[in-house]
Amino acid sequence: MKKILAILLSAMAVVSFTACSNSSQSSTQPTTNSISTTETAVKKEVETDKIDWVDFKEYRLDSTKKPKNVILMIGDGMGENIIKASEIVKGDKLIMSGLPYKTHVTTYSQSVTDGLADFTDSAASATALSTGVKTYNRYIGVDKDGNEVETICEFAKKYGMKTGLVDRHYVCHATPAGMAAHNESRDNYPAILRNMLNNDVDVMLGGGSQYYDASKKVQDTVEKNGYTYIKDEESLLNFDDKNGKLLGMFAYDNMKDAYMKPTLTTMTAKALDLLDNEDGFFLMVEGSNIDVCESSTDMKGTLEQMQAFDHTVDYVLNWVESHPDTLVIVTADHETGGVKIPENATADDINDSCFTSGGDHTNTNVLVMAGGADSENLCKKDVIDNTDIAKYMRTAIKSCHTESK
Ligand SMILES: [Zn+2]
Repeated sequence: MKKILAILLSAMAVVSFTACSNSSQSSTQPTTNSISTTETAVKKEVETDKIDWVDFKEYRLDSTKKPKNVILMIGDGMGENIIKASEIVKGDKLIMSGLPYKTHVTTYSQSVTDGLADFTDSAASATALSTGVKTYNRYIGVDKDGNEVETICEFAKKYGMKTGLVDRHYVCHATPAGMAAHNESRDNYPAILRNMLNNDVDVMLGGGSQYYDASKKVQDTVEKNGYTYIKDEESLLNFDDKNGKLLGMFAYDNMKDAYMKPTLTTMTAKALDLLDNEDGFFLMVEGSNIDVCESSTDMKGTLEQMQAFDHTVDYVLNWVESHPDTLVIVTADHETGGVKIPENATADDINDSCFTSGGDHTNTNVLVMAGGADSENLCKKDVIDNTDIAKYMRTAIKSCHTESK
């Protein structure tokens, strides 16, 4: 991307230089107009290309502190090979690869165990990461028998912490839903959204405003629970009520365009501002559309989504440097696309043909990477289960907080 931008900018500089020379030779008219047009074009190009690969750096993260705050970052469908593919194209490591501890994680759901499916979906996986319980595909915050199991947001609330969920798909899509709601079908979006609002998640940011617009029940639940509902970036940037609850839905549907504002980084930055408090918080941030692009075997789109997600990881780790009582876990809910990388691949080899599963999820183990407070022990084994992440977060929270309810 950087190369493309550099070529584009240098090409524009040549055009601009040529235009100026021509006009100065052919006319004495001021050239202000053509220069300002060129400047606008350059600015616009830089603007739209804001999400670029972030230069690799390793953050100074302190693992000796107790975790007042827990941040779980999930790249939906972000298998190990799409991280490698991104690094080949970038020509350097991603920011997330600089996290000090890492190991592999299983992703299979109860549906796989029972021979009902070949791989997990995002709902069962989110439930495992949130509750520590394996369940059937499509289930949200319930076990295989349909019983409600405690979500990580409910657990954190019990310990007096604030909670936040940031994603790029619907606010009530499978991954954030699994962190805070209970339902036997991930598709029951209005019911799931009401459940999340009734469970007092402090900050929810993402897409899916159609579920607010179309449901009086949702609108009433927003009002009853004292949420401020916003729909645009300006309202997000202006919202500064640290004691208030915020529901931001910035697209009717999915915020699929990686450059669409507010970006994942902007939403995450605001969530951190609002959630930071003396009793700590749990925040889940999802790069939702890595999976969406992989499902349509779109490598260019996938790489843009990886850029955007790693950009946010960079912001978060920078924040954690100055808030060392924070545990950061970066992982995926499952692999998508069956990404395979040719031997000795160069950037040119990273294209749509790397996807080998026809856009399906796979059962391949994913990576978990951790840093910050109490991060060292999560990755001691060669392979852990996705439910171990939920259990680890609970133990970490218990070590630093006292149950208040
Ligand atoms: Zn997923």
